[in-house]
Amino acid sequence: MNVVLKGAVLFFLSLAAGVTHAACSFDIEVGDYLRFSSTEMVVEKGCGSVTVNLKHSGQLPEKIMGHNWVLTKSSDVQPVATAGMSAGLASEYVPQGDERVIAFSEVIGGGETTSVSFSSERLVVGRGYTFFCSFPGHSYSMRGTLKVI
Ligand code: ZN
Repeated sequence: MNVVLKGAVLFFLSLAAGVTHAACSFDIEVGDYLRFSSTEMVVEKGCGSVTVNLKHSGQLPEKIMGHNWVLTKSSDVQPVATAGMSAGLASEYVPQGDERVIAFSEVIGGGETTSVSFSSERLVVGRGYTFFCSFPGHSYSMRGTLKVI
């Protein structure tokens, strides 16, 4: 078996096993509930640019069931979520100019999509990162881990 074929077979085998693969672009879906379709992302430090495409497949408007995607170090989730609540919807529930925020998308409502791209430069291999929704009350259930390899 040649190397390319072997790689392809391993790829499909691990897909079948549900193993999360490192990537530079991610499609994440949300709806009229407090959950991201993925709770684990693995990013390659060498990506250069990382893109997250967020799709809200629900029907409720952003004021009622808005969602966004915010990335911080895991230890910064709570303080940033709290500061985001004060910032309000006009600021996408994200504190403006806050150094702890590595990346964030706008808040979207049902039927909308958005995307955010950010540099992988700031990401440190081995450090714990968490992505979450900073809409008030959502960050406890809407969160996941981002690993850097
Ligand atoms: Zn949300």
